[in-house]
This record gives sequence, C-alpha cells and structure tokens, in this order.
Amino acid sequence: MKYNRTFNFSAGPAMMPEPVLEEIRDEMMNYRGSGMCVMEMSHRSAVYQQIIDEAEADLRELMEIPDNYKVLFIQGGGTLQFAMVPMNLMKNGKAVYIETGAWSKKAIAEAKKYGEVVVAASSADKNFSYLPDCSDLDIPDDADYVYICENETIHGLTWNTLPNTKGHILVSDQSSMFLSRPCRVADYGLIWAGVQKNVGPAGMAVVIIREDLIRDDLASWVPTYLSYKTHADAGSLYNTPNCWAIYCCGKVFKYLKSIGGLQEMQKRNEAKAKVIYDFLDASSLFTGAVEKKDRSLMNIPFVTGDKELDAAVVAAAKAAGFDNLKGHKSVGGLRASVYNAMPIEGAEALVSFLKQFEAQHK
Ligand SMILES: *Cc1c(COP(=O)(O)O)cnc(C)c1O
Repeated sequence: MKYNRTFNFSAGPAMMPEPVLEEIRDEMMNYRGSGMCVMEMSHRSAVYQQIIDEAEADLRELMEIPDNYKVLFIQGGGTLQFAMVPMNLMKNGKAVYIETGAWSKKAIAEAKKYGEVVVAASSADKNFSYLPDCSDLDIPDDADYVYICENETIHGLTWNTLPNTKGHILVSDQSSMFLSRPCRVADYGLIWAGVQKNVGPAGMAVVIIREDLIRDDLASWVPTYLSYKTHADAGSLYNTPNCWAIYCCGKVFKYLKSIGGLQEMQKRNEAKAKVIYDFLDASSLFTGAVEKKDRSLMNIPFVTGDKELDAAVVAAAKAAGFDNLKGHKSVGGLRASVYNAMPIEGAEALVSFLKQFEAQHK
C-alpha cells in the first residue's frame, strides 16, 4: 500500500478511502481559495453552507431518500441516539425492541429510562450467534415503534430480512453497515448511524427521519438540543455542528457516487467478505461465530476454540502488520472488520496469513 499504511481491521474508527484522505490533505491549508482550512471556517459562511448542502444532497442521491424524510447531522456519536430515539418517538411510552447483541442491549437499557420496553424477540440464548425469526412478532397495538440494530458490530450479525412490524414504525441503528449496500428508506421511520465505522471521523451521527415523526409536543424535560425538531428546523446548524466530520462525510458520499453508488459498494463488500468466509468454512482450525444466513458483510468474528491459540494468532497477526483483530471480550477469538474502505487486498492478505498460521499449528 501507498504511504506505508496498515490494513486496519478495527471495528471503529475505521479505514477511510485513500482518495478521500488525499483530497482532504490537498485542501487542508486552503480550502478551494477560501484561504482557510475547513476546521477554521465559520459554520455560518456561504462556503461552509455549500459543504453541508452538498453533503446532504449527495447522501440523498446515494440512498434515494424520499422527500418526506429529513437528513440530520447530530453530535454525540451513535450513543446519544439510544436516548434521542425514545425521547422523541415514544408518544404512548411503549416500544418494541429486538435483542440481538451488545448494541441492541445498550439501546434497550437506555430506552427503559424513558418508557416501557417490550423485548419481542431475542437471541441471547445462543450468545447472539443468530437472528431470531421476526416474521410474526407479538407487537402491542400501542407500541410507538419497533427497534433493531441492523448490523451487530460485536457479534457480527446482519439483518437480511427486516422484521414484520405489523404496521408499526421501524427504527434502525445502521452504524456499522451504513452505505454498505442499497437500502429502501421508505421501509423505515427512522434510520440512524454513528459515522465512524463506514463514513468519517467519530463524534457524529446521521439521522434520517420521516417528517411526520418530528414532533413539537415533546415533554418539557426533553433538552432542546435533544429534540429532532431543533435540528430539523435549523438545517443541522442550530449551534456549531461538527463541521469537520460533515465535510469528511461529504467527501465519502461523493467517493461512493464516483465508484457507482451503493450497488457497486455492495458487490465489492460481498466479494471481500466471501474471501474470508470461504476460508473460514474450509478451515480446520478457525470457525465463524455466526449462523450463515445472518452473517455480516462488515464484522466477521471467528474463533479457534482455544483461548491461548486465539491470543497467539492475534499477536502473530499484529506482528505481521494486521491491526485490531482481537475479538470483543463477549465473543472472544478474533474479529475482522472489513468496512467499505477496506480493500479486497486486505481480506486476501489476511486469509493468506491465517492459512499460514493454520499450517503451522496443525
Ligand atoms: C459503534 C456503534 C455504536 C456507538 O457509536 P459511538 O459513536 O461510539 O457512540 C452504536 N451502535 C452500533 C451498531 C455501533 O457499531
């Protein structure tokens, strides 16, 4: 690789496309004749307004976001959305959550502070190694929404069929799969994503919300800043936003358009993940931790079945120049996160390393 960069398999923050980093570098000292770096720019300036407007327009084009949805750039990363969703969407004080791993568990714990949470399905019985059948859930009539984590970053699960919400609004945490494949926005009431997995620098979330869900009758205790209406009414410029992150995300949106959009991105992601899954399926040492039908294209957890050997392979991988392969402690073993910006060469290099390790440990 150019610049002596490493194949970074981190679950996040993660790799950015090199052409994007190069453009950012080229614009660092003087953004297009403005005489300033974007970091130094007023968020009320015309030049910055154009940056945020283009970022939104490019994202709308990429995801084909219908006109009756707002796109919001909100600070606080992904985690703040665990609270903002129930604060803003619980009208009846009740919501259905599907428990499929660490990130949906966090969402559930937070939502319980604001209302009643009905966990309608869970895969906790097998340490979140599969997705439960959600074709015929028991959903209370007065539930305000059904919530899923669409890609469980730690456990390595992805929803390939959305749950049957029986007419209720679907809310999805897409943090670790955002823009990794086409998405029919109209199937959701609200999609949110922390951006540092697949898009840009940490500290911000993109929220895509159907307009009729934006309320101005929230409880008086809801902080102004945590109301979606505040951000929607101000075009995500209620206060100084994360200008830098929005700028970088905008670059990634343009990059994705330039390579052929989300269909092309999905093709590349499938090819990349296949390199690793094919190896795991044929390996006598390593096994994938997730049922095949629910495997993530982005986060691939796998184990040897022996903790000491797992630790040895993580150490050997690091020495060989592959970074951040240690699995989360709740799953153990290893986890390769292969987000949009990981080139297929990274997956191939990892597999040839693992093959070699396997041959030496038979
Ligand atoms: C990383 C992640 C989050 C949390 O994002 P932060 O920006 O660190 O708060 C939430 N949900 C999922 C699925 C994630 O992968």
